Amino acid sequence: MSQTITLIPGDGIGPEIAEVVKTCVAALGIDIDWDIQHAGGAMIEKENTPLPDRVLDSIRQNRIALKGPVETPVGRGFRSVNVKLRQDLDLYACVRPCKYYEGIQSRITNPESIDLIIVRENTEDLYAGIEFMDSCGEEAPFLKFLKEQKGIELGCDTGISIKPISISGSERIVTFAFEYAKKHGRKKVTAIDKANIMKFSDGLFMRAAEAVSQKYPAFIYEHKLVDNMCMQLVQYPEKYDVLVLPNLYGDIISDLAAGIIGGLGVAPGANIGNDYAVFEATHGSAPDIAGQNKVNPTGILLSTVLMLKYMGLSDASGHMEQAIAAVIREGKRVTADLKKADSPHPPVGTREMGDAIVEKINSL
Ligand code: NAD
Repeated sequence: MSQTITLIPGDGIGPEIAEVVKTCVAALGIDIDWDIQHAGGAMIEKENTPLPDRVLDSIRQNRIALKGPVETPVGRGFRSVNVKLRQDLDLYACVRPCKYYEGIQSRITNPESIDLIIVRENTEDLYAGIEFMDSCGEEAPFLKFLKEQKGIELGCDTGISIKPISISGSERIVTFAFEYAKKHGRKKVTAIDKANIMKFSDGLFMRAAEAVSQKYPAFIYEHKLVDNMCMQLVQYPEKYDVLVLPNLYGDIISDLAAGIIGGLGVAPGANIGNDYAVFEATHGSAPDIAGQNKVNPTGILLSTVLMLKYMGLSDASGHMEQAIAAVIREGKRVTADLKKADSPHPPVGTREMGDAIVEKINSL
């Protein structure tokens, strides 16, 4: 029986990688009907919103979506489509596996030992969108409150973003991380924050993580400060297994971890809630290479691997991962970002790398 999955191609390079996904999934012989839905910057001109209601309706109906990247203007303009999707569908856990595939160039000396799972809280923290752009305008009572109740005086030229972190949200994400560890045979969970400085938000996250860890005595549990963790991941990535973090640190550490396994082009991701799941690569819309057949499709294809596993299609998922890994290992038909400096083979385009993966799927 066929299953319908919402497919959001997204902005920039999104449509190019969405096409590769469709051909690879077709080669696996899986019966998926793609319900194509458009969201992102390109929709603003057409429909005056980057996220039309019907996109959310489609995901609510199909329960699973695969999404390309969407643009978010930096420091101005509309709110992030990604943040709205995660909040409206309560996709509270962002799971980003960072595993090294042989053949990829990494600056780390022993990259083959890297196999991390990053679990990022997806709905709270500084991403909750509680921001005051005009502190002395309509929000003046807030400045007044700070001055009168806390003795803190801020000038009118101050922008304010609030960082809400709750006990329930923290317990929920840390429980997710331990349950993930249990289900996937992992051994160690590391909770990461900056509890020494932000005692009421990160401190709360740290205490909630410690409390949840007591319920999972079979796992090694440890706590690290985020600045130390950045250094640890560059120097000793092999020491870590499952990492669980509040939203902002999770976002930043995910890119750092993508960097040590060979770059954004190869990093997959999943946003998971109790009712819905949206799978997407870690990278953005890469406007600098959009429409040029240059984008590496690995991130979205590995996100598809996660999606197939989530759907219970473990064989197809494993088959697709093997095909991607084989094409990367051989290094003959890969995009420029995956090329080793001494490779005798010229880089290929997005479509051609997709074709190589399809051939591998058919031959394995
Ligand atoms: P980006 O990830 O789009 O690009 C960063 C650099 O990496 C660029 O040089 C790009 O060409 C390169 N790159 C990224 N993915 C690649 C791939 N698969 N293959 C080869 N090269 C790749 O990050 P950015 O430039 O900071 O953001 C561009 C836009 O994407 C912004 O509007 C941002 O808000 C958005 N964004 C969206 C998402 C998402 O929808 N999940 C995530 C991150 C950024």
